Amino acid sequence: MEKVAFVGLGAMGYPMAGHLARRFPTLVWNRTWEKAKRHQEEFGSLAVPLEGVAEAQVLFTCLPTTKEVAALAEALWPHLRPGTYWVDATSGDPGESRLLAERLLEKGVVYLDAPVSGGTLGAQRGTLTVMMGGPEEAVERVRPYLAYAGKVVHVGPVGAGHAVKAINNALLAVNLWAAGEGLVALVRQGVSAEKALEVINASSGRSNATENLIPDRVLTRAFPKTFALGLLVKDLGIAMGVLDGEKAPSPLLRLTREVYEMAKRELGPEADHVEALKLLERWGGTEIR
Ligand code: NDP
Repeated sequence: MEKVAFVGLGAMGYPMAGHLARRFPTLVWNRTWEKAKRHQEEFGSLAVPLEGVAEAQVLFTCLPTTKEVAALAEALWPHLRPGTYWVDATSGDPGESRLLAERLLEKGVVYLDAPVSGGTLGAQRGTLTVMMGGPEEAVERVRPYLAYAGKVVHVGPVGAGHAVKAINNALLAVNLWAAGEGLVALVRQGVSAEKALEVINASSGRSNATENLIPDRVLTRAFPKTFALGLLVKDLGIAMGVLDGEKAPSPLLRLTREVYEMAKRELGPEADHVEALKLLERWGGTEIR
């Protein structure tokens, strides 16, 4: 059976690579080596030195930004083999990825952008949505290997997956922040956030923020660290690039990026994205409960 490899065993990559290892011979590499060893013990993958991942027919990456992916390509350059498919699950930059795809073609490596949504829970459950950019035949060639996916959509040429992902996350940011503003006002008025959400979630104002994120993470005061605020702000920057590139009207998304930039400055990039609502709570002088 063909070998696959996974680089970047972070909050997303670790469980995603776990799904691969259950079905295919899977090589793993991670900058912090202990995580690769732990993955090998937990899932039966094989932790290898960096150049070892070039042996795989399908190479997966899930790194913070396209910069780390491009740096990895340079580090692997002498070892890359023609006919390899590179499936990049990073939420990356469309333009930088198009350049990377061209560069990799010099080695006969086919790059596909394949960012994911569904969070760490979706990664653990193997139900992620994958949005793919690249040539049709390459997408079909790697489709059987996407063991962590619940849904796979081929959205266009290289870069299109990243563009869709950035806009999706901009919508996540809008919905979360807007729900936070509304709930702070209602709580100040004496309505419990729980009751308000009971109504909203049976009404037209509902979103993933009101149905899942706020009940599970804010009302409980748990604020688990699953998706760093710094990464969401990165996605909002990519979304602005998509909008500006198309000269598309974007007053609300521009403002949204500004408030999350502010939250990042106040709370630090390592805070979870849902913690952005703590800023609203501070300004409003009340917790969302
Ligand atoms: P994490 O910070 O948890 O993991 C990042 C991974 O990248 C780690 O394996 C880290 O290695 C590795 N890494 C970081 N810098 C370098 C480098 N310079 N060279 C080599 N490896 C490096 O991030 P996530 O897993 O949360 O996110 C990964 C990608 O997935 C991002 O693009 C993010 O936007 C996206 N994403 C995240 C979601 C989430 O809910 N968390 C949901 C959907 C998409 P080390 O272990 O050594 O730090």
